[in-house]
Amino acid sequence: MAKRTKKVGSAGRFGARYGVRIRKRIGDVERVSKIWHECPKCKAAAVKRQANGIWVCRHCGAQLASSSYVLTAPVAVKREVSEAIAAAKARAEGPKEIEKTPEPAEEELKER
Ligand SMILES: [Zn+2]
Repeated sequence: MAKRTKKVGSAGRFGARYGVRIRKRIGDVERVSKIWHECPKCKAAAVKRQANGIWVCRHCGAQLASSSYVLTAPVAVKREVSEAIAAAKARAEGPKEIEKTPEPAEEELKER
C-alpha cells in the first residue's frame, strides 16, 4: 500500500483543515504518545498509553500514572514535583531543623 502521509503522519487524517502549525504539533505529540515506551518496572518496551495520563504495560500488566502524552514527565514537571516534595519534607521536619541549626554555631564558638 502506498504511504499516504509521509510528512504529517497520523495528523494526515485532518486533511487540509485546521492549519499547518496545529496539525504539525498534533503529529509531533502523537508520534511520541503512540510508540511503545519502556516499562519502569520490567524494563520491557511494552508500555502503551491507555487514556489521558494512564499507561499500561503489556508485558507485566503494570498500570502507571504519568504525563498525558509521554510516559516520562517533562523536566519542568519533574522539577516542580521534587520541589513540592522537598517543601513538604521541610514543613514536616521544620521544627527539628530549627533546633539543629543553632547547635553547630554554638560548637564553633566554644572551639574559638
Ligand atoms: Zn512492565
